[in-house]
Amino acid sequence: MSKQTSSTSPATVAISARGASRLKDGHVWVYRSDIVSADGVPAGSLVSVVDHRGQRLGSALYSSSSQIAIRMISQEPVGDFPALLRQRLADAIAYREAMVRDTNAHRVVFSEGDFLPGLIVDRYNDIVSMQILTQAMDAESVRAALVSELSERLHPASIVERVDPRVRQLEELPARSSGLVRGEKSSTIFTMNGVQFHFDALEGQKTGAFLDQRENYAAAAQYAHGEALDGFCYQGGFALHLAPRCSRVSGGDSSRPALEVADRNAALNHAQGNVREIEWIEANAFDLLKDYSASGQRYDTIVLDPPAFAKTKRDLDAAVRGYKELNLRALKMLRPGGVLVTCSCSYHVSQTDFLQMLADAACDARRTLRLAEVRGQSKDHPILLNVPETAYLKCVIATVSN
Ligand code: SAH
Repeated sequence: MSKQTSSTSPATVAISARGASRLKDGHVWVYRSDIVSADGVPAGSLVSVVDHRGQRLGSALYSSSSQIAIRMISQEPVGDFPALLRQRLADAIAYREAMVRDTNAHRVVFSEGDFLPGLIVDRYNDIVSMQILTQAMDAESVRAALVSELSERLHPASIVERVDPRVRQLEELPARSSGLVRGEKSSTIFTMNGVQFHFDALEGQKTGAFLDQRENYAAAAQYAHGEALDGFCYQGGFALHLAPRCSRVSGGDSSRPALEVADRNAALNHAQGNVREIEWIEANAFDLLKDYSASGQRYDTIVLDPPAFAKTKRDLDAAVRGYKELNLRALKMLRPGGVLVTCSCSYHVSQTDFLQMLADAACDARRTLRLAEVRGQSKDHPILLNVPETAYLKCVIATVSN
């Protein structure tokens, strides 16, 4: 694959009227079907984008294999992408300094949301984790700028790369393994909202966190009380936040390794005197809710944060049925005055779809729900208003009044 260097002037890609109108509406993607000509354009290169009449639309990163052929990076000409990347990283870090509180773990770069499409960077205390998702971001000159800028600005003990092999295959990039790219340290402890978690980038059970839920953990804790169940608890994100507020907390998950980390996280906080004992249950949440419901178990707080049920638009109906079944079961088990914290990370299930699903579930369960908060992802995952794909997480906190 040829590599773009900063000294060559960008190749030109012409796009259709439909592609151009999408960009004029503020989106940043052009699909392959809207590419008119990209002859001889090197894979992963910086390109100049023109419409079918030859009018310049700006600068973009080109992928020779992805369905998203063009990801715009500027409306202006760009000569040196690594230099632009350095500036955008500085801006992303400054944005977090202004917006992010009560944590030493947060997303530092959220791809399109930080005008760096194809790049994810997370910080877990003194370890920085990066993920490269496109040909352009994989170029050696880009990697070098990325690692040096992250080191200079964040001074981490180490930087690790988290590889998604499927993405590299789709981008036709050579296979690569996850691992340290700078420094030696691969595990640490991070703190969100005063709750501590293990992070281990390499060995044993990989750990990490759903950083996008960080603000929702704190919000949920404000309403949580009594007996609580976190049905898809993973490594304990919600359960650990609820524990100081509740008389009893159970965390269920179908993954035993996730529960083992959850237990280690609980011990960490227990040792600090912050958290009471949590019961961890290895179970399919659908079965757990059904069995516990049948045996008359009731709760005051239930959290539902399942994996994405709709991976594509085609899955939408089945996904909504799945969410409805879960929420219906949970609603039936909540005592009057109880709190439901219910989430969906499926982009294809819109906030409107999700609220409608919840309204239908409440109706079927014969419960009256009052919305306390309709929330989304934490602010370190910035949403670009004109790029709807950057908004994916829904988190609704509601109380049951009868
Ligand atoms: N709330 C967690 C993240 C949950 S991710 C946090 O904030 O950290 C979704 C979790 O659901 C994963 O841990 C996965 O193991 C678990 N899971 C997937 N299908 C499940 C099922 N049917 N029943 C229970 N857990 C399931």
